[in-house]
Amino acid sequence: MLETTITGSLPKPAWLAKPEVLWAPWALEGAALEEAQQDAVLVAIKEQEAAGIDIVTDGEQVRQHFVHGFLANLSGIDFNKRKTIGIRADRYKVECPTVTGPLKRTHSVHKNGVAFAVQHTARKFKFTLPGPMTIVDTIADEYYGDRVKMALALAEALNEEALELERCGVDTIQFDEPAFNVYLDEVREWGIAALERAALGLRCTTTVHICYGYGIKANNDWKASLGDEWRQYEKTFPHLAASKIDQVSLECMHSRVPASLMGLLKGKDVHVGVIDVASNTVETPEEVAAVLREAMKYVPVERMLASTNCGMAPMPRNVAYAKLRAIAAGAALVREELGIK
Ligand code: ZN
Repeated sequence: MLETTITGSLPKPAWLAKPEVLWAPWALEGAALEEAQQDAVLVAIKEQEAAGIDIVTDGEQVRQHFVHGFLANLSGIDFNKRKTIGIRADRYKVECPTVTGPLKRTHSVHKNGVAFAVQHTARKFKFTLPGPMTIVDTIADEYYGDRVKMALALAEALNEEALELERCGVDTIQFDEPAFNVYLDEVREWGIAALERAALGLRCTTTVHICYGYGIKANNDWKASLGDEWRQYEKTFPHLAASKIDQVSLECMHSRVPASLMGLLKGKDVHVGVIDVASNTVETPEEVAAVLREAMKYVPVERMLASTNCGMAPMPRNVAYAKLRAIAAGAALVREELGIK
């Protein structure tokens, strides 16, 4: 009970990619890069295990970008034709590959990396994939001219990948949908249907992660503009509660999201974000425990997990690792209070 996990990413070692940079270019190439990525996955897993994280990830050491990484083995997308587009309702600009034909998965993307990671841990293993709406929002389109059609094509490709990763022994597939916090009407109209298509037939645990983004300036400025109470989740949670997705991962620590909104997720497991990824100050176990206690007013403790607000990729490594230990220590405090293991 009160298992611990992380949203997904951890910093990459300096020998793999430039430190403290989001979407940093690789420091190696070819076979040397593959070997270095595997080494980095081992470090990420062992650091999580040593810190006391129950459900570990590969730290997203094998991909440069959390969306574009999945697109590598899809036909219909041209990585040489890159366009800079405004994403998340034009909150910031990103250089994106262009869709030039029907999107189809030609072969597996993450199978080898996941099989390797699963072999190297006895803990539960979670793998993250971008959700269909977030991918649609992070690519340039010259073919579909229709976000819903494109999302459903992507959902089919994601589903093929997710089913294959399940067969590799993954315990949880998490779809990252930061776009769910931006296009609130579209979430209801087609976002959840596309997400459910991506998760169709999965027997492993399914999670959707909805956050206010990495701790980069554009996101921090956006958060500062959202007022005293952030109520974006209020519109989305009732639809997620009615969906087939098992779990919802959300941002809590230092956010202005009213904790009571978690009460809208009845019947779902909730990953409570207890780590601020926009700050290098390491949370104390007491601070983590306080967020969990507040969440317990609205979510039954047997449905709660402790996690991070978002990925920790751009942080200094020592800070991220210390934050891992804070999650475990904070959850342990609450377990002890409740007399649970
Ligand atoms: Zn996030």
